[in-house]
Parts: sequence; structure tokens; C-alpha cells
Amino acid sequence: MLNIFNSLSGKKEPFQPLNPPFVGMYVCGPTVYNHVHLGNARTFISFDIVFRYLSYLDYKVRYVRNITDVGHLENDADEGEDKISKRARIEQLEPMEIVQQYTVGFHNIMEKFNALPPSIEPSATGHIVEQIQMVQDILKNGWAYESNGSVYFDVKKYIDAGHPYGKLSGRNVDELFSGTRALDGQSEKRNPMDFALWKKASAEHIMRWPSPWGDGFPGWHLECSVMSTKYLGNQFDIHGGGMDLKFPHHECEVAQCSAAHGEEAVNYWMHANMLTLNGKRMSKSTGNTLLPQEIFSGNNPFLSKAYSPMVLRFFMLQAHYRSTLDISDKALAAAEKGYFRLQESLKVLSTLPTSNSSTVDVSHWKKRFHAAMDDDFNTPVLIAELFDATKDINRIQGGEATITERDLKDFETLVNTFVFDVLGLQSETNANTNANSDALDGALQVLIELRNKARADKNWALSDAIRDQLSAKGIVLKDGKDGTTYSLSS
Ligand code: AMP
Ligand code: ZN
Repeated sequence: MLNIFNSLSGKKEPFQPLNPPFVGMYVCGPTVYNHVHLGNARTFISFDIVFRYLSYLDYKVRYVRNITDVGHLENDADEGEDKISKRARIEQLEPMEIVQQYTVGFHNIMEKFNALPPSIEPSATGHIVEQIQMVQDILKNGWAYESNGSVYFDVKKYIDAGHPYGKLSGRNVDELFSGTRALDGQSEKRNPMDFALWKKASAEHIMRWPSPWGDGFPGWHLECSVMSTKYLGNQFDIHGGGMDLKFPHHECEVAQCSAAHGEEAVNYWMHANMLTLNGKRMSKSTGNTLLPQEIFSGNNPFLSKAYSPMVLRFFMLQAHYRSTLDISDKALAAAEKGYFRLQESLKVLSTLPTSNSSTVDVSHWKKRFHAAMDDDFNTPVLIAELFDATKDINRIQGGEATITERDLKDFETLVNTFVFDVLGLQSETNANTNANSDALDGALQVLIELRNKARADKNWALSDAIRDQLSAKGIVLKDGKDGTTYSLSS
């Protein structure tokens, strides 16, 4: 039986969907004001595994993952500029051009990582009407107040009525109140802990919609409460996101849904842990990031070479989703070795000799693989079990163990299902990538030499043409004191 660690109880709990075989899962998607970094990708890969394993268990999963395209303000707070508007202002583009550009980029990266698309991908700007409706419901139920064209959730009133605000994130309410900066008397909020459901748009704010409270825009937490319950019902099974979203984002979601609907929405809260770089959380706002493209091209001083999307995926799955994971060139190189070793074993599996009897117990492996994933999606244990199973493959190949034709078929199906369907890895062999990159490297060295010769002959037209045409193909030449090197720009 599948057990899921529920952040709400702080324990692993047997998974009992509200309405089997259907499962509703909502995951907070990216704020599309910038390229997704590898940390974001890790969280989405973690939930891709949840989606895949639930589907493997024959649940009919409706997986909703949103696109945040309005309302997420700088510093994740109630004041400051909208992240998307800011980017639009700097780049002199329409906010929706920013949204489009980075949404497409996000989809491309997810496809490279072989993450399955969600069943529904709603956007915050596409649900303004529903968000206004939820604000009205919360106001009507008495848990919010209007102030100067904005609407705030009345956290103190909600807590005083006995609601467990702080339970999800494990925050102590008294500390929360004393730790929050006192209001300076100018604030529209009754209490510093109150959070915005709807914000009045200042004159220069471009992303704005008419509402009963005047022109404004929704608060960041609201969209997820609205879109999750719209598509999954007022109560649903799983809500996920990165650990950093527990507070305030998810704590506020819990409050909003119960204030609007009179019941908590989510049965299992799941939080994926952070990818770190140099021991610090990878984050767009601090610039401590590595972009997926930089890893695929090797175009970053942090890396000795390029690593493929599947090596990255394998690297991430070698850690449990609730553990932090630090990325380094060394760790990636080790993951690459492991991943290629697994791939080689899979190739051998399809060519094994068969016998009249089996000494290999396929059902044993099936139990082991299930046990790993049933234990809160424990991918590192599953990978360890897969490596153990490859020992049986080697023994059969070496004649120290035997397998019947039928068992071999089952064994192959089992291993392939867990590697390709459950872990979502794709075939990619060492030999192939190395042969391709060796050939490319050889061809580029020839071109670099031709260009050097053209430069020595002062044939600038030819040397520039070589550089420019390579650049148009995404290959950038760099002239340094030790000669010319190249990098792949995409
Ligand atoms: P954002 O685009 O900032 O709204 O984040 C999108 C998702 O990525 C959220 O679920 C975040 O919790 C998650 N996330 C952000 N930084 C990291 C990180 N360093 N490691 C793992 N997940 C992250
Ligand atoms: Zn969210």
C-alpha cells in the first residue's frame, strides 16, 4: 500500500483517495517572469514521479499545475512590484509577452526532462472572475475586510475563532505575531499578519482588472485556492509544491479555502525539498542559479563538461524528494556513470539466454520495486534495487543463474516499466553521446584551424564568415590567450 508523507501531520500516512480510482493533485507551477532554473525543475520532476507512480497504480489522476502570471510580488510579500510587470518594464515588452516567452521555455525544458504535461494547466490571469468570486465569499463569511480598495484576510479573527493557522508550516502563532514588524499606522491592514486577497492597483500598475473594490489585481495565494478547487472540488487529495512555499503561500491557501468553503481543501500536503548550489538554495531572486540549458551545453565555468537531461533527471532521482540535494560537477559525473551503467544492463537484459528453469525470482524484484515506491516515492531505494537486479542480469549472462523465456519476458517488462514509465528515464547511451560529441568536436577543430589560417592570411571576410555562421547555428567561438575554444549557446 502506498504511504505518503503528509506535511500536515508530519507523518507518513496510508494513501486513501477521496474518490478512488480518481485522484486529484494540484501542484504550484512556476512564476513565468524568468527562465526556470534547475531547482524549479527538481520540484516539478519530483511531482512528475508522483503523477507517474499514481498512474502506474491505475489511479485516474487529474493533475493540475498552474502558471503564475500575475499577483506574485517581489520578495513574496504584499508590497512591491509584480515580478512579471517588472520584467516587462525592464525589457519594454507587454507582460503577456514575458508570460508567453517563459511559459514556452518552461514547457521545452520539462519536455527535455521527459516530465509529463499536467492534465490541466490553468493560469491566474485566466481566472480573475473566479478569484473575485472567492474574495466575495470570504468577505461574506466574515473572514476578510476591505481597506482603501484592497481586501485583506483577517488572520487574527480567524485564529481567535480557533482555526489552526500555522499548523501546516509548523509556525507558532504567538511568534508569528511578535515576529512581524509592527504597523506604522499608515498601513491599510488591521494586523501585520493579514495578507492580501485583492490589491488596489496604483496608477502606474499595468496588470489590473475591474472589481467591486475598484481596479486591482489578485493576491498571490488566491489563484491556487481558486484553481485547485475549481478543477478538483472543494476537497481534493494532494496538493504539492516546493518546501519554500509552505509559509506563507500554502498556509494562506489553507485559510482561504476553509474561510470560503467552510472546510479544508487538501487531504495530503506534499513538499519537495530544495536543490542547492554551493550549499545555498538555488533561487532566481538571489541569482544563485544554474540553468538547465547551461548544463546541457556545458557552458558554465562551474562545469567541466555538458550533461544530458537524462543524466540530470537520474541525478535528481538518486535523492529522495524530501531531502535537500546539492549539485556539483563531481556529483553529476558520478550520476552519469551510474546512469550509463544502468542503460548498459538494460541492453543486456533483452539479449539474455533462456533455459528450462529459472533460478531468478522475478516476483521478488516486483515486490522490492513496489516497496520502494510505496514508501513515500522512495526513488533512491528503487534505483538501488534496480542496480541489485542488474546483478541477476549479469549472473544470467555469465551462466551462474538461469531464467525461462516467460520469466525473462516478465523481468524485462518489470525493469523497463520501472525505469522508463515510473522513473521516466529515456534511453541514451554513453557510446552514442560520446561518439556524437567526438565527431562534433573534430569538425569544429577543423573549422577553428581554417579560421586561424584565414586570419593569418588576413582574409577577414572568411574568418568572420566562419565565426558568424557557426554563431547562427548556436556555436560560439571564443578567442583566448591559449587559442580558440567553442561553446554551444543553446
Ligand atoms: P517559482 O517560479 O519561484 O514560483 O517556483 C516554482 C516552484 O519551484 C515552486 O514549487 C518552488 O517551491 C520551487 N523551487 C524554487 N526554488 C527551488 C529550489 N532551489 N529547489 C527546489 N525547488 C525550488
Ligand atoms: Zn501556489
